[in-house]
Amino acid sequence: MSSPAITRFAPSPTGSLHLGNARTAFFSHLWARKTAGRFILRIEDTDVERSQDRYRAELLDDLAWLGLDWDEGPDVGGPSAPYRQAERGEFYRSLFERLAREDRVYPCYCTAQELELSRKLQRMAGKPPRYAGTCRGLSVAQRAEREARGLTATLRFRVPEERVIEFTDLVHGPQRFLSDDIGDFIVRRENGSAAFFFCNAVDDSVMGVTHVLRGDDHLTNTPRQILVLEALGLRLMQYGHVGLLIGADGAPLSKRHGSTSVRDFRQRGFLPQALLNHLFHLGHTAETDGFLELARMPRYFRPDHLGRAPARFDEVQLVHWQKVSLARASTDCLRDWLGTAVTPPPGLDFDAFVELVRHNAVLPADAVPWAEAAWGRLAPLDAQTQQLVREAGPAFFSAALRAYDESAGDWKLMTASLRERTGRSGAALFMPLRAALTGQRHGPELAPLLKLMPAAVARARLQSHAESP
Ligand code: GLU
Ligand code: ZN
Repeated sequence: MSSPAITRFAPSPTGSLHLGNARTAFFSHLWARKTAGRFILRIEDTDVERSQDRYRAELLDDLAWLGLDWDEGPDVGGPSAPYRQAERGEFYRSLFERLAREDRVYPCYCTAQELELSRKLQRMAGKPPRYAGTCRGLSVAQRAEREARGLTATLRFRVPEERVIEFTDLVHGPQRFLSDDIGDFIVRRENGSAAFFFCNAVDDSVMGVTHVLRGDDHLTNTPRQILVLEALGLRLMQYGHVGLLIGADGAPLSKRHGSTSVRDFRQRGFLPQALLNHLFHLGHTAETDGFLELARMPRYFRPDHLGRAPARFDEVQLVHWQKVSLARASTDCLRDWLGTAVTPPPGLDFDAFVELVRHNAVLPADAVPWAEAAWGRLAPLDAQTQQLVREAGPAFFSAALRAYDESAGDWKLMTASLRERTGRSGAALFMPLRAALTGQRHGPELAPLLKLMPAAVARARLQSHAESP
């Protein structure tokens, strides 16, 4: 077994947990579990304008719902607390002071408009837009003059010249960047808060993270983060940048594909096991393609089998895993699951209903027609169904009612008795019964359905087609 991996998930609470992020959290979790390492949860909420408490609470709740428990982080604490970056300002300030003393950072007084204009000019000249270095060489007097005018400053990292930054990405292999292609970037915002490039990297390092898994979109951020860590003399992590999730059309998974967040799927009634089993195979070549409980997944997780190609999220696959998960779920679990969509009348054997729909529903909403058939109000019969009932005739239903009473709702006894009374059998017997009892020509098996149908409901349905009493 390889040495313990300290991994982390570092979400920004600026929205609901996206499936793509849930996947990197999941893989990081599996890696830690596989190697008996640790999985850290850190909330990156220094951007006070975009971060929201409600998203933070949702994030924790969705991760817990998926079963991705963390060894260090909010709620559980740990040796590197606090785990909310909003509470780590003091620590960042001490590092900024150090960087300033060593002249590795400098204040930048450029306004948003000035920066925009500069980028525009660079683009027009056919160059990639980056910070032009306007404030790089300001003298102490020039800085003082700007401060006196009441200008506020961001803090920029002084990117060293003519440096080659190399690292081996766990997924993408050897990487090489030139520092001269990187503009001096912001490490502290105008309001004094630490910016992403900075606090993300230093926290990973000081929290002891060994392996960072994150989305591809961060690959080009890595050389900047390495420069920051080097300037501070901090330990580097290994990075693995995994391919993004795409929708059926090949575009990055986004709102226009429908559900994209864990919460969306959760609210629709997908089970966590279904989501995890689908995510497990997205951009990850596992050693098995069978269903796995979360506890068994670390064994089959192969960090060296993570792919760089975008992985296609496919709801058809998800539905497949949902069916497998439903078939395996306990009655208790399914009772809660169904309880969100249907409310049984008092005294009804709900467990029997749960077992009935287990193999006939994908989402709780699919159970609604079944609940209606079992104890609800039937919609008016369509023409063909009505025809079936009419053809059987009132005498048939009067006989059915007697057979029902005699057999106390036991389907086998009831139909045997009805066969004798009416001489009907096969479809001629079952179809009109199904039509009268469920309002449908197709649907659930009648034996279990009838068993859980309240007697008053069953009698009323048969009575409504029988001879008048
Ligand atoms: N807070 C960053 C994000 O959500 C973290 C990126 C990373 O994993 O390094 O994009
Ligand atoms: Zn500037």
